[in-house]
Amino acid sequence: MTEQYKAKINEIFDSIQGEGPYIGYRQLFVRFCGCNLLCDYCDTEFNQGDMYSVSELLNKVKSFDLEHIHSVSLTGGEPLLQYEFLKDFLPEIKKTGAKIYLETNGTLTKALKNVLEYIDIISMDFKIDSSAKIGDIYSSHDEFLKTAKEAQKEVFAKLVFDENIKDYEINECVSLAKKYDIPLILQPKMNGNNISVSQDKILKIFETFTEKYHDVRMIGQVHKFFDIK
Ligand code: SF4
Repeated sequence: MTEQYKAKINEIFDSIQGEGPYIGYRQLFVRFCGCNLLCDYCDTEFNQGDMYSVSELLNKVKSFDLEHIHSVSLTGGEPLLQYEFLKDFLPEIKKTGAKIYLETNGTLTKALKNVLEYIDIISMDFKIDSSAKIGDIYSSHDEFLKTAKEAQKEVFAKLVFDENIKDYEINECVSLAKKYDIPLILQPKMNGNNISVSQDKILKIFETFTEKYHDVRMIGQVHKFFDIK
């Protein structure tokens, strides 16, 4: 095992998946520092952390009860920024039998290609300008999804929206979901532990999406109701 690369890790914890179709499963979360985007709604602390070599992180991860978790969730920040580290780390983790669940913003396709063989499930965000305020990045998501699907990976997309979601954003996301035949998870934007979107808007958005695409689910962030990480 090479010790060439180190990664800055914000936190490692055993908890409950609070978002998306795997909600409620027990996962070991490894939160990588740093992100290539700056979403307006980001509420994740990912700048502070400690540096780990591959063997140090492997030992740390192995100190948890890997036998009774659903998967190891690589989260952030954007874990794919550390793809060189992951190329050495993930084969070692796979030897334990743990499944790898990647939480990603779906923009770093070249990095994904380097580690794709070790990933079991990809939870990808669709970023829309009305909530994330980073411009339109559908072509990045398109390229990312193409790579993931060509490798026959399980992938779904999560879309954080608020009251300001636009018709063209709905159409772009539906078009990508249809093109790659992936589940589309709608997630109302939160303000702290409170949902920041009105009930009427949530129902209206849900109706609009479900009329356009067959695999749409409205799922909030459950861990915030439990007040856990
Ligand atoms: S991609 Fe995720 S971690 Fe990065 S800024 Fe956006 S919400 Fe935060």
